[in-house]
Amino acid sequence: MSRLIRAVIDTQALRHNLNVIRARAGRARVIAVVKANAYGHGLASTALAIQDADAFAVARLEEGMSLRAAGITSRIVLLEGVFSRSQLEDAAQDNLDLVVHDARQIELLEQAGGAGRFAVWIKIDTGMNRLGFAPRDFAPALKRVRMLRSAPRELRLMTHLACADERDGQVTRAQLAAFAATIGELKHETSVVNSAGLFGGVAAAGDWVRPGLALYGASPFADATAADFGLRPVMTLMSTVLTVREVSRGERVGYGGAWSAPRDSRIAIIAAGYGDGVPRSFETGTPVLIKKQRAALVGRVSMDMIAVDVTGIAGIEVGTPATLWGEGLPVEEVARHAGTIPYELLCSVSQRVPLEPR
Ligand SMILES: *Cc1c(COP(=O)(O)O)cnc(C)c1O
Repeated sequence: MSRLIRAVIDTQALRHNLNVIRARAGRARVIAVVKANAYGHGLASTALAIQDADAFAVARLEEGMSLRAAGITSRIVLLEGVFSRSQLEDAAQDNLDLVVHDARQIELLEQAGGAGRFAVWIKIDTGMNRLGFAPRDFAPALKRVRMLRSAPRELRLMTHLACADERDGQVTRAQLAAFAATIGELKHETSVVNSAGLFGGVAAAGDWVRPGLALYGASPFADATAADFGLRPVMTLMSTVLTVREVSRGERVGYGGAWSAPRDSRIAIIAAGYGDGVPRSFETGTPVLIKKQRAALVGRVSMDMIAVDVTGIAGIEVGTPATLWGEGLPVEEVARHAGTIPYELLCSVSQRVPLEPR
């Protein structure tokens, strides 16, 4: 009973997924995206387990610095770049690649006497309207970068796809066309696709691919599972039965009495709640894997507990393990029951949940 909720991390699956990605990527190099604590899997431990990735990408400076502190020596790309002179100095100190997506970031480089200490990735906004230079602003931005007192050590171009998970690739085709038109004859290396672009077969994937979700063994598509691509789940969120109780037909379970038993039922109370990152939006019927069977969550998610209808499943007692998602129960399937996506579930696993190597 000492082992309550924990996220079991299968680093072999992680390495396997990187190999699957490599095979898909062909000659393109792989930037393993490890932002947001490696999608909840542990930033440093994840990067250390796949040190042979060609590069890593994070959203924030602090994440890049922690990777360096953990001994990661490969290229690290800061997807949002930096926002101040002191951040720029920290990035130089730790040899972090800069994404430059806004004129203000070029200004920082001008003030710092150039970009000679950096590899720079200029980001072009081809339709997502989040980060990047609009196509018409790209040429002036590039000109400013070229006029810096010291040129970037390396210069690459990137964009990000908004709808790569949609099978009808109309938006993606328009974005690719805009990217190609903006770059014109420039010969710089490029980076275009995320997991969905890579596994959805986007033709112009660029010289560097940027998978995140696929690395962790989940599918970005509504109509395809990770297993369809040969990917294996890396995180299995597991907990334990705290108690088992019998409730009679018509009795209510949990806060608000939100669920009442349609028949005499056997209910397992499991140590996992929104305090652990199991969202309260998990509705009655959300599957929980117990004794290799899918049982239904019933009633409301509490802070530390959920109730699961285990009527008819033999051998459930105090201490029986249960899986919230992961091996045997894809996180994509579970996410649908909470009206969310696997990304959010993985990232939301809270601090009190220990990450355990498998
Ligand atoms: C998060 C992110 C990725 C990875 O996306 P996935 O869908 O997890 O593969 C790639 N590129 C950028 C710019 C990102 O922000």
